[in-house]
Amino acid sequence: MIIKTVEFLKSSQRWQDCPEPNLPEYAFIGRSNVGKSSLINALMNHKDLAKTSQTPGKTQLINHFIVNEEWYLTDLPGYGYARVSKVMRKDFEKLNTNYILNRKNLVNLYVLVDVRHTPQQIDLEFMEWCGESGVPFSIVFTKADKLRPNAALKNVEDYKTKLLETWEELPPVYITSAEKKEGCAEILKNISKTNDLLKKNKIRFDG
Ligand code: GDP
Repeated sequence: MIIKTVEFLKSSQRWQDCPEPNLPEYAFIGRSNVGKSSLINALMNHKDLAKTSQTPGKTQLINHFIVNEEWYLTDLPGYGYARVSKVMRKDFEKLNTNYILNRKNLVNLYVLVDVRHTPQQIDLEFMEWCGESGVPFSIVFTKADKLRPNAALKNVEDYKTKLLETWEELPPVYITSAEKKEGCAEILKNISKTNDLLKKNKIRFDG
């Protein structure tokens, strides 16, 4: 997919305040510092569309962008800040879960995990919740350039093996590097294919 236009649309504090759900929407989520902003900027071929490394504890917002006047890209608040209170953590979670469960036009959620780390409880629990809630999602491994290619592949295989201990099947998996723009074309290709399929089947979101 060629990114012809990308525009920041709105920051929302509640899912009810998000833009009209009238276009297919693809959202990105992950632990703080996973590389979400960097990946969004790499996907959109932009330097600072999504703000990198927001200060933990600041108001968390859902950011909507409109791409090619055709679909929404959504930047969801990072979860799992180590240094915020439990109450605040719950508030972030509620913002995300309310959005995910109520957003009628959400086509896919991209859950980002750092390729260098072994499976973390918080990510596993979140993906488990997506599965149980019937939320379509893909796993996006980030920062692949920080490892040698073989080491990155091994970590991904180990991650999959761990998931298959409790899951029957795996969601789609992408290996990316925002730094080297790896894996971005695959994600965009998938979004494009999905949008075409929605159009072909005359599935429209009219809000
Ligand atoms: P966010 O908090 O999830 O939005 O994470 P950021 O995009 O702000 O990235 C956190 C840190 O990881 C920053 O210092 C980035 O420069 C770095 N980073 C993000 N993606 C990559 C990547 O693909 N490769 C490398 N080497 N560093 C990355």
